[in-house]
Amino acid sequence: MTPAKKVAGKETKTNPGVKKKGGQKAADELAPNRIAEILRRLEAAYPNAECALHHRNAWELLVATILSAQCTDARVNMVTPELFRKYPTPKAMAEASLPAIEEEIRSTGFYRNKAKSISGAAKKIVEEFGGKVPNTMAELLTVPGAARKTANVVLGVAYHLAEGVVVDTHVLRLSNRLGLTKHSEPKKVEQDLMKIIPKDHWIQFSHELIHHGRQICIARKPRCVDCTLETLCHSGDKTWSSV
Ligand code: SF4
Repeated sequence: MTPAKKVAGKETKTNPGVKKKGGQKAADELAPNRIAEILRRLEAAYPNAECALHHRNAWELLVATILSAQCTDARVNMVTPELFRKYPTPKAMAEASLPAIEEEIRSTGFYRNKAKSISGAAKKIVEEFGGKVPNTMAELLTVPGAARKTANVVLGVAYHLAEGVVVDTHVLRLSNRLGLTKHSEPKKVEQDLMKIIPKDHWIQFSHELIHHGRQICIARKPRCVDCTLETLCHSGDKTWSSV
């Protein structure tokens, strides 16, 4: 086995492909065979990766995704059963008062804004979409609280439609660490990913990256020693290198 070496800083002679001073890279990070291998390894590591937000339909997923901003999925999953028991449909939610919704979702944080978004989304869906969550990006983006990331979650998970790639905080961080983008703005990162990831992988790829970001490639101290992508990764954030 090749001797392993702990990476102390952002640059190391023993870690080929890590950015050298001056921006030179030792590897072509967008090479199709590298992308294909990243996809293959992620799929092998997370064969059943799926959205962690509990939901029974597109409406519940939309609400859960709105609630998940700045909040853990686990916390959202604690709140939504009672919320949907009381207000099971867009119509029921549209008729609920803001304080009543706020009371149910308080523990998810930013509850006033989230209650406004959920109430506004319910009213919009009842008034303009016949009570059914729309299934196109253009229509979803008119729904209060549904920006592009939320719309991508609803389209991909509830309707199995790949109109884009979900870029949350994990996808953003990992895409940069893996050299798949140089951008920090989610919209631009999504555009980069849509160019290099085959469309039939868009939905699953983001689920897998989110799982990998939660379990292994964590923000502060990535667990590179346990990472299935380690030999393909040239990030300056690496904490360990096998080469
Ligand atoms: S090797 Fe480290 S930095 Fe690279 S993807 Fe894996 S955990 Fe993240």
